[in-house]
Amino acid sequence: MQRGAGTARLTDQTTAVSSDVRRHNLSIVASFLAANGPHSRSQLAAATGLTRGSVTALVGALMDARLVTESTETLEPPNDTAPAKGRPNTLLELSGDHLAILALQLDAESVTALLTTVSGVPLLRIVENHGRPMGDPERVLEVLAAVLVRALTESELIHRAIADLTVVVFAPVAGDPPMVRGDSDLDWLAVDVIGALRARIPDLDTVAATIRLVSDGGLAALAEFEQLDDVTDLLYLKSNSGIGGASIIAGELMLGWQGMAGAFGHLALYPQGSVCACGQRGCLVTLAGPDVVLAAAGLNDVQSSEGLSVALAEFVTRVRRGEPRASAAWANAVNWISLALHILVNATDPEVIVLGGFWAELRDEIAAQFALGGPTVFSESQFRHPPVLAGVLGADAALLGAIRSARDRLLADPLAPGHSQATID
Ligand SMILES: [Zn+2]
Repeated sequence: MQRGAGTARLTDQTTAVSSDVRRHNLSIVASFLAANGPHSRSQLAAATGLTRGSVTALVGALMDARLVTESTETLEPPNDTAPAKGRPNTLLELSGDHLAILALQLDAESVTALLTTVSGVPLLRIVENHGRPMGDPERVLEVLAAVLVRALTESELIHRAIADLTVVVFAPVAGDPPMVRGDSDLDWLAVDVIGALRARIPDLDTVAATIRLVSDGGLAALAEFEQLDDVTDLLYLKSNSGIGGASIIAGELMLGWQGMAGAFGHLALYPQGSVCACGQRGCLVTLAGPDVVLAAAGLNDVQSSEGLSVALAEFVTRVRRGEPRASAAWANAVNWISLALHILVNATDPEVIVLGGFWAELRDEIAAQFALGGPTVFSESQFRHPPVLAGVLGADAALLGAIRSARDRLLADPLAPGHSQATID
């Protein structure tokens, strides 16, 4: 009995190990083609260290799943006089023409859907304003569901199944199932966004193989991180509606125990300050958040009539022009932002700081104030202040990060359920 049980366990373990190895090798082949473009089987074997026989088998499995196809290109220019020699130089390329990646973003003003190929090439973009009804999740979720239905319908029309669906929110996400844990932009407490979408779209789980709810800061940080060469440690701070961010340490996004790391807007900097929605006093967002600087700059009316992003664009224009009220509001905010950066630099020792949202457009003022030094005990020593850079991806950073993460998941396990599902006919 014991021997039998032991043998069975050993067989299970062997099977598990060999299936892990196969998954890993499938990932190596798919990732190589994604990163390096079309290659022949021989080139793949040489570049990956896999045997030619393994490559042939792995490519066969990926072709069966329609994730790899034979390219119309060949390795060498065809020679008209040479006889046909079979297909030794046939190039293979990442395909997945039957699949799409979908990312939905819910911000303080609108819902955006971005549908792309598995390589991240955009296929469709939908933007719809939700009107920012404060404290009324149902009205916002109606718009989110409507945009999702439109994106799913369009994807079906072009015969692409959704391999991966990510819903990006500008709020902390935690729990199991993951839920929004309070959104100060929309005056929400806990909201089960995915549950609400499932309730409105009964077949959602059959049309999207996986559905994720993710906070924007980490995705945006990862997307900006990919734009930088040879950087391993990055501090990302952004402001679009509130203030958020993320820390990447040794190439890994710091998530925290509950997945809520990066709530930099709630660094309590001023004990005598006003009470924040989080319950603390004097949080960074209450001292330098968009609503605060817009009010101080006299742009509340613009925000009410034309929305937050228009008001922030006008604020940036006025600061650059040197308009006194906007400049004074910004100078005050920059002091607090710089203080927050010094605290975060002492806590995480980043190689670079990247600013996102409208702060990217006003990087110079933040960098100048930061360079003046702060309350760091190391400022007089050999401690090197990291450079402060402007993010390059603009308002799309989190959406692009969501698409990129989905592509990486697909390449890490190419034959996972959903990645090789049948085409929608
Ligand atoms: Zn707070």
